[in-house]
Amino acid sequence: MFTQTINHTWHAAHSLPHLGGKCSSLHGHTWRVSITIAAPSLSADGILVDFAALKKPMTTWIDNNLDHALMLGAGDNLIPLLDLDGAPSTAPLLGGKEVDGAPGAYAFTPLAAAFAERGQRLFVFGRDFPDVAWPTVEGVAQLLAHKAHGWLTEASSRADVYVASVTVHETDRSSATWHNTDPHPAPGYADMALLLANQTERVITAVDAHLDQEYAALIGSTPK
Ligand SMILES: [Zn+2]
Repeated sequence: MFTQTINHTWHAAHSLPHLGGKCSSLHGHTWRVSITIAAPSLSADGILVDFAALKKPMTTWIDNNLDHALMLGAGDNLIPLLDLDGAPSTAPLLGGKEVDGAPGAYAFTPLAAAFAERGQRLFVFGRDFPDVAWPTVEGVAQLLAHKAHGWLTEASSRADVYVASVTVHETDRSSATWHNTDPHPAPGYADMALLLANQTERVITAVDAHLDQEYAALIGSTPK
């Protein structure tokens, strides 16, 4: 068994008002993620997965969605102030709410308008990632584990490589790890398509050989 780990860091603020204490306040961390993938063997090139091919979708997604962002839970009492219902967090009209009867026109709360003006990035757990309600370090690990399966599929067509674990550090002393408890994933659509393509190729080869023989018999010579 081989494992390979890629790391990335980003800066973001979060708030956990449901836990009380000082974590309720908006505060920032330099977050660090380590994504470990595993496979029982190396490819013919002597690698698991090309580091760059895996790193590119990971860093692009994190840099575009979480870096310098405000990570909040959908239940945070700041959300109504941001007037975010139905507005995608990545939209330039952050926090804008379409005005009734005036398509394309948006109204802002003062706070949402201020955020929109400075291009504040926002990622709302429970909405942008419905599986987890709050931006805890465990929740961020689950979010990135969820995304990592897609990044791995993008980086490699190997069926036997899988995401083994995802660790997220919010400080040097606090981290959480998501572990893959099902390390033998069922074949996905890509694997089934490959299997079907291989079988089809074998059938075509067999039919070709048969037709060659028929043709050769017809013209009275041996097939090449
Ligand atoms: Zn924190």
